[in-house]
Amino acid sequence: MAKHIFVTGGVVSSLGKGLTSASVGMLLERRGLRVRMQKLDPYINVDPGTMSPYQHGEVYVLDDGSETDLDLGHYERFTSSPLTRDSNFTTGQIYLSVINKERHGEFLGKTVQVIPHITNEIKSVIHRLGEGDVDVVITEIGGTVGDIESLPFLEAIRQFALDVGKQNCCYIHLTLVPYLKAARELKTKPTQHSVGQLREIGIQPDILICRTEQPISREDKEKIALFCNIPYEAVIEERDKDFSIYEVPLSLVDNKLDGLICRQLGLKTREPQIDDWRELLRRLRHPNHEVSIAVVGTYAEHRDAYKSIYEALDHAGMANSAQVRIARIRSEELEVEGPERMLAGYDGILVPGGFGERGVEGKIGAIRYAREKGVPFFGICLGMQCAVIEFARHVCALEAAHSTEFDKETPHAVICLLDEQRSITDKGGTMRLGAQMAKLDPESRAAAAYGTAEISERHRHRYEFNNRYRQQFVANGLRIAGTSPDGQLVEIIELPEHRWFVAVQYHPEFKSKPTAAHPLFAGFVAAAIDHHAARHGRTADDSAATAAKRVPRPERQEA
Ligand code: GLN
Repeated sequence: MAKHIFVTGGVVSSLGKGLTSASVGMLLERRGLRVRMQKLDPYINVDPGTMSPYQHGEVYVLDDGSETDLDLGHYERFTSSPLTRDSNFTTGQIYLSVINKERHGEFLGKTVQVIPHITNEIKSVIHRLGEGDVDVVITEIGGTVGDIESLPFLEAIRQFALDVGKQNCCYIHLTLVPYLKAARELKTKPTQHSVGQLREIGIQPDILICRTEQPISREDKEKIALFCNIPYEAVIEERDKDFSIYEVPLSLVDNKLDGLICRQLGLKTREPQIDDWRELLRRLRHPNHEVSIAVVGTYAEHRDAYKSIYEALDHAGMANSAQVRIARIRSEELEVEGPERMLAGYDGILVPGGFGERGVEGKIGAIRYAREKGVPFFGICLGMQCAVIEFARHVCALEAAHSTEFDKETPHAVICLLDEQRSITDKGGTMRLGAQMAKLDPESRAAAAYGTAEISERHRHRYEFNNRYRQQFVANGLRIAGTSPDGQLVEIIELPEHRWFVAVQYHPEFKSKPTAAHPLFAGFVAAAIDHHAARHGRTADDSAATAAKRVPRPERQEA
């Protein structure tokens, strides 16, 4: 039978439960265990697919097309645990399923209640993940202890240990130990209260992970242990990492968390094998190059909106031994300021995905700038669609070319809805979603980067390249570098005459890992390094890097 780890959080949200859970998963995997991971989110939306990036950050898409919480991105980047629809549930989904059962008469006329019907449904999705060849299931509970909407989930995981035996369960609670500048002290009281609240619900945490800016003294740890009823060695410090999120697992190993979990669960394993991860961080700390990439997006000011893109750029940096400085540029601002003012000096320009008209002209302007100035360009999803519009308008002289998402009356609908999308009115899970195969032109830059002519990548969009313009575009120098296997849907475009101009209809960022950078991101950053060197020589401190330094890069820590 699989063992179960439950990760809860207290005191404040955004403590980095996702990163901590992912790190625990990684360390257990590297001890040779088969791990499955899951996130249970207390909000009522059925999935985050319909939520604004401002509300919820990036929507992370899995191979099977499920639209999930961005923490699942951490799970995939840190572990090799296969993720599916069963890896993310919300209150909305749990209720939907219980209500459907009720409508089908499955409860035989009984009153349907939170306990036991909702809690049973929650327990069943946790059990489901433990079926088959699995040693450990890690279940992260979203939200914070004390939230009304978290209660059914906490109640369900409390009952879970009664069902399967406490020896098979380990409760990890993540809290904040704040440093009060005025008092020059760390404060343990919020942690005591948070554990107190958990214990009221009937859960005694086995391990406490304390997020802190400052080292926690022995005395403070003893106090936390005593007041929270936890053995001293199970009070684990997790200091803020301002350098890289990929340090988190190493710091948890140094604090002996993985060994502690295995002892608690009676798991006999080897020591974790993490030399490659240490090497990765060494490379990150000692880069040979420095490049600056401008990410021009609608939601640039929201640090989580393009999370996987920022991570994939970092992975590409590691693969190229380069420090990638990311400047997050709001496309709306670019519309006002102009690309010359806002983009001069960057070594590469990336336009990510997005929905809605806001800032679209800014993106098109950025792409025109990249194309005309020979700056390496990488377009993703809406970024590709904007590249097509830009090419139509300024190279093919199709002046008012647009996507019908933004201009229904455009005379040149170079991006338009697929027939199968036209009649859809429901919002949830109705886009072209999930992994699809594509075939590549063997001559293309993409094929060279992937090293293969057949790929599988994840999609999340409604609109597509309009084939009516294909011939005209090709005649004007656009390369169709990749299509769906039947040749009908354009998946990749390139400009062969340009230094590096590649745009894709899918989301490569979801398949990049620190240990295996995505080939297109790696190729893009390599081109940015070359572009930088061509302009400045390798050692020159260039204006772009300096420009990027002025713009805060996305914080490297979840805090
Ligand atoms: N809004 C565009 C579409 O639906 C692009 C989507 C995206 O960038 N993910 O096709």
